[in-house]
Amino acid sequence: EKQHTVVIVGGGAAGISVASSLHKRDSSLDIAIIEPSQTHHYQPGWTMVGGGIFKPESTSKPMAAVMPGFAVWYKQSVSSIDEENNQVVLADGSKIGYQALVLAPGLELNWSGIDGLKESLGSNGVSSNYQEGMASYTWATVQNLKSGRALFSQPPMPIKCAGAPQKAMYLSSDYWLRNSVLNNIDIQFHNAGAVLFGVPDYVPALESYIEKYGIELNYQSTLVAVNGPAHKATFRRTDPNGNTVDREIGFDMLHAVPPQRAPEFIRDSRLANESGWLDLEDDTLRHKHHSNIFGLGDVSGTGNAKTAAAVRKQAPVVAENLLANLRSQPMNAAYLGYGSCPLTVENGRIVLAEFGYNGALQPTFPSWINDGTKATKAAWYLKAKQLPALYWHVMLKGHEWLAKPARR
Ligand code: FAD
Repeated sequence: EKQHTVVIVGGGAAGISVASSLHKRDSSLDIAIIEPSQTHHYQPGWTMVGGGIFKPESTSKPMAAVMPGFAVWYKQSVSSIDEENNQVVLADGSKIGYQALVLAPGLELNWSGIDGLKESLGSNGVSSNYQEGMASYTWATVQNLKSGRALFSQPPMPIKCAGAPQKAMYLSSDYWLRNSVLNNIDIQFHNAGAVLFGVPDYVPALESYIEKYGIELNYQSTLVAVNGPAHKATFRRTDPNGNTVDREIGFDMLHAVPPQRAPEFIRDSRLANESGWLDLEDDTLRHKHHSNIFGLGDVSGTGNAKTAAAVRKQAPVVAENLLANLRSQPMNAAYLGYGSCPLTVENGRIVLAEFGYNGALQPTFPSWINDGTKATKAAWYLKAKQLPALYWHVMLKGHEWLAKPARR
């Protein structure tokens, strides 16, 4: 049996960042990363690909290029965790022992939650920026559409980057406006939830764009089925009496987002909370019932916005607390729930939502540099020009610029 001091499950945004943050604090630490994929994706770039701003190839790198040289890389997936024996079980049945475990496998897109969606993607105007490689089809469809109906759907929360379903809608609408076809297109937003955005401070700015683009808003309207060849989508509505009504709507373009859940090996384990997400303490990011298990990123059951921006603040907290724990010292670092969602309301302006637990605003910049409740050019510049480099060269490398953990 193989054994490592720290085993990290997942080599995405969270797994690589936390490995680098650990190594920065103790370069002699024996770290293994378990990650089956040959490619690492910068998913925040997919919205920009869908809006024709980024080239698809700028959003990924070979996994080997981001995998830190100090870590042992197992190119497999984890099939289960044996927390009683401090072991993870890999897909081929082999086991790896750990002293401390970090769970960072992200989340699972539940395509089967919407009948016919997965098969429909990539033709008949049906797309999703959430599917790897599909954002360029969103952009092609947007450019081709000159009239007709465009539907944008948002599934029940929680999802990663909660603003991304409407980001796709605003960037598409902006393109149609600039090309003088907006008036010929009936744009509808169908949101399973009851509000435009979960943090009220950002809603007025978003509403002004809804008005500008003439978008019809539908709340508690959940996409349940798609028929690509027939160009029809079925939405389920729950009325105040709890009765459901299904409505079929024809479309020329459909940007759909699937419901999301924790990966099965977490969801079906004793490490999950009642909703299936990893059951972590809000501030320390340590498992509620296992003192040598930590977690971060999209798999986490903490109430923050599931974003790479959250990971940037979580990684140093996990690194510091995990090392303190290995040395039997108290855990002092605290995560305050920071997450960020740059809402691309038009090509050239962004509403930069930054908030922590319970919607508490946590702006990085003073309001004279960037007022997060308004659409600004400064925030667009940050997203389009700075954040990709921040991701690849700062966060993944363990440089904790503006990410110093709070104290407990
Ligand atoms: P991921 O980066 O998804 O990585 C998970 C890794 O775990 C993957 O490499 C996977 O192969 C691996 N894995 C899975 N299962 C196993 C297993 N069983 N064993 C081993 N390894 C496994 N965030 C922002 O901050 N700003 C944005 O503007 C933004 N926009 C977004 C737009 C879109 C369209 C999407 C899809 C996401 C967006 N995000 C944004 C969210 C951001 O991409 C995620 O929050 C972030 O990638 C989470 O990191 P993670 O490491 O938890 O998950």
